Amino acid sequence: MTSGSTPPASAAVRSVTVRVPAKVNVQLAVGPPRPDGFHDLANVFLAVGLYDDVTATEADGLRVTVSGADAAAVPTDTSNLAARAAQLLAARHGREPNVHLHIAKDIPVAGGMAGGSADGAGALLACDELWGTRTDPEELLGICAELGSDVPFSLVGGAALGRGRGERLTTLSVKGPLYWVFAVADGGLSTPEVYGEFDRLAAGRTVPEPDPSPAVLDALGSGDPADLAAALGAIDGGNDLQPAALSLRPALAATLAAGTAAGALAALVSGSGPTCAFLAADESAAADIAAALAASGTCRKARVAQAPAPGAAVVG
Ligand code: ATP
Repeated sequence: MTSGSTPPASAAVRSVTVRVPAKVNVQLAVGPPRPDGFHDLANVFLAVGLYDDVTATEADGLRVTVSGADAAAVPTDTSNLAARAAQLLAARHGREPNVHLHIAKDIPVAGGMAGGSADGAGALLACDELWGTRTDPEELLGICAELGSDVPFSLVGGAALGRGRGERLTTLSVKGPLYWVFAVADGGLSTPEVYGEFDRLAAGRTVPEPDPSPAVLDALGSGDPADLAAALGAIDGGNDLQPAALSLRPALAATLAAGTAAGALAALVSGSGPTCAFLAADESAAADIAAALAASGTCRKARVAQAPAPGAAVVG
């Protein structure tokens, strides 16, 4: 396979583009390690309006290209979740995974926002449409779960509670718009390393079974950001991985403090980090928080996004 930055050009060749959102974990309750090394989770996913576009184009072999500011950090071999999605779908239908996948990347890489998972879900839908394989929605979700814990949510979007490793989804009611600001850090954090640090910090104490907070679920359903912030405050911010991410990247404490000082109602590390997520009272507060974060020198850039965002969808 080859890498590059040019999207497919020929108008004569068929292609399908799917847009797929990033996520923030509004609450991430992490249980003790299971015998298989994974952790049972109560993962309150919320899809947010930062998107990757995955374009699948007819080709003679499997090829991945990536464009966008962080393209160099994304693998273009079969470790790319988009390529693995094409392989799994093709195998399911007894065909060759012949497709050129181009990822126009806007979701931070290794940022705790499920960017790779988004591309896996996007590629799956784009290939299914391009190849006319008409895979049953339940089977598509099954392939997503094989690809990774966060991939099923990238397909469905909106808001959902993920149990098990996060792949067993129940749709949640959510009212928007909720305005979030994301402070993108320099460099990523490895999700397995953050879980390893979680286990290290938890050694010697009993980790309770993970449960979603009823107050968080109620506040999502009512769409009141102040209620959601209060519910998160009552459970120590909501992200059980946050102490581990801060232990590996202590500088994130200054980012969280800068967003809070700028008026964020809630400040949390997004998933395994290092992206920090800030809940704003409204659109204008979000713009103010983003400007203050950008000026603070505590992050690489700050992005405003609305939630909930729809799941993976064909856009061209
Ligand atoms: P999560 O929130 O699901 O834990 P993340 O947002 O922290 O994930 P990703 O952006 O998914 O992290 O990237 C994690 C690693 O996955 C990257 O360092 C990269 O090596 C690999 N990867 C594989 N496929 C992709 C892809 N399509 N886009 C980005 N990274 C990918």
